[in-house]
Amino acid sequence: MGTCRRCNKSSITISNTLGYCAECIRTHFDEVWPHMGKVHEESRRRFRLPLYAPKDPYGLECRGCVRDCQIGKGKLGYCGIRRNDQGRLKGGRPHEGNLYFYYDALPTNCVADWVCPAGTGAGYPTYAIREGPEYGYYNLAVFYHACSFNCLYCQNWNFKKRTFSKTRLPAKDLAGAVNDRTTCICYFGGDPTPQILHAFTASRLAIKATRGRILRICWETNGSMDERFLKTMAELSLRSGGCIKFDIKAWSKDIHMALCGVTNKRTLDNFEKLAVRIHKRPIPPFLIASTLLVPGYVDEREVEGIAKFISSLNPDIPYALLGFYPHFYMRDLPPTSKRHAMRCKEVAEKAGLRNVRIGNIHLLSTYY
Ligand SMILES: [Zn+2]
Repeated sequence: MGTCRRCNKSSITISNTLGYCAECIRTHFDEVWPHMGKVHEESRRRFRLPLYAPKDPYGLECRGCVRDCQIGKGKLGYCGIRRNDQGRLKGGRPHEGNLYFYYDALPTNCVADWVCPAGTGAGYPTYAIREGPEYGYYNLAVFYHACSFNCLYCQNWNFKKRTFSKTRLPAKDLAGAVNDRTTCICYFGGDPTPQILHAFTASRLAIKATRGRILRICWETNGSMDERFLKTMAELSLRSGGCIKFDIKAWSKDIHMALCGVTNKRTLDNFEKLAVRIHKRPIPPFLIASTLLVPGYVDEREVEGIAKFISSLNPDIPYALLGFYPHFYMRDLPPTSKRHAMRCKEVAEKAGLRNVRIGNIHLLSTYY
């Protein structure tokens, strides 16, 4: 049970760590931000990550993501990967991937599994091996150890311990990990954004080496990359039968800021730009959205805003609502309840979306 420091309301869905209820965040953001900003700082100090995006007027512009870091000599970008090494921008380049990879048996628990070729055979025979799930084949799951966001509920936060790992995997070695049972590569993390150049090279090399057979290129991302990367991401996925999965974390800019420490504007702009390309390959779906239902914060209002936005672009874009599990700085919240998930599904469908699905159903609770 948590209590809002501003309105004194108590609820199982108020996080004491964050300190405030969703309503106070939406209506009195400037008043409540200083405390929440400190929580974000603390969550980064622990891992020796920069507390803020550097803005050194004499520094190098990273131009990788929404953070717009200007990195001074000897300093790190917000993600902890990109850095200014004696006037040269390093980190995340094709020969220096900081990641781990594994083979995930298909059909896997991918965000898009209910619509993608690996899970359903959509796009067979051009993009899928068979008409149903691709049993016997594997996804090459590529987990990048850095992120451009700072979600206090991060479901994969252990990667932060490895952002400064010295181990590097060149793109050509990652591409070499694709074998004759691999039918898709999925870049996630953390987020692929800070190391997107590495992912581009690995994808090109892997496609070249497997020419003539199916190898889909997919992304699971917060969507914060610089706009100039969208075209390459889209082309790699469109041609290969892969998809781009955007995790849209909140609709209200204030809730997004409170939870993720950054604006959602870039993510929404990028999503809109990608939606224009959907007609180039309607089957299997090229663009997919998801939202993690954080109890008390990512509520029906947030989902309604996101769903209306997606629906205005194209009502056939598949939308997955995902169950939250208490992690990282929001361990004082319960897992997403069935009721919360069902209500959000209803709201999203009412907003006009034709393909809404509740994912990780096994995580749902009856706590609230
Ligand atoms: Zn309140």
